[in-house]
Amino acid sequence: MAIKQTPLTDKELKKISKAILKEHAPGKFDILNFYKISKDEVIKGVFCPVCISVSMKRRDGAWVCKGCSIKSNDAHIKAITDQFLLNNDEAITNKELRDFLQIKSPHISRRLLDSLSLSHTGTNKGCRYHPPPNYQNITDLNTSTAKLPQ
Ligand SMILES: [Zn+2]
Repeated sequence: MAIKQTPLTDKELKKISKAILKEHAPGKFDILNFYKISKDEVIKGVFCPVCISVSMKRRDGAWVCKGCSIKSNDAHIKAITDQFLLNNDEAITNKELRDFLQIKSPHISRRLLDSLSLSHTGTNKGCRYHPPPNYQNITDLNTSTAKLPQ
């Protein structure tokens, strides 16, 4: 059986590439749904990069592990990255971050968000911080200069 091959017109190609790009829209991958995990099952808090326990507490401008006592200046970066991932790449508010990092102070939360120079929309309590493109490719989490890639 012979298949008749006709080259696609420019218009058709454009239509196809548009459709592919539309389907490939990042941020629409529901990771919790994919792994059949409910939101309540997600362990909140900042993980210790050394002993991997989720017991880091904010003290004197740094994260201190209750398990192994190590100090970290940037353990929150991994947690914020995780939160964006769990949030399907949606923007987060200061309140949502506080809840996820298990910290009480909106000021500390604000400072952490500002330190990452995230783009944001809205004002005051409605201010939402957006994940930078390719934030999932962050590799170097253990240096004090680690930042989310812009
Ligand atoms: Zn530890």
